[in-house]
Amino acid sequence: MRRKRRVEITIETSRLVVRRSSQRLTWCAQCATHVQSVTLQDAAALIGVETSSLCTQIEAGEYHFLEEARSGPICLNSLFVSIDKQNHD
Ligand SMILES: [Zn+2]
Repeated sequence: MRRKRRVEITIETSRLVVRRSSQRLTWCAQCATHVQSVTLQDAAALIGVETSSLCTQIEAGEYHFLEEARSGPICLNSLFVSIDKQNHD
């Protein structure tokens, strides 16, 4: 009697999309350098969380909030550091 064998393969993928435009750099005091910034919505999409969850993480100091940035209030450097940490954990 022949037995059926079932093999299940799970593939996990991730994708990082970096949008660059001719935006101006903004001073980030926490990075101590000029940085690019992104909107809350773009930042949430980059790290794969809801905007409300991102706000909680910003309040916890996980990401740098830039009040004077024209292109968005989130320091892109702080996002990249977080993504890099997640990839190495
Ligand atoms: Zn920063």
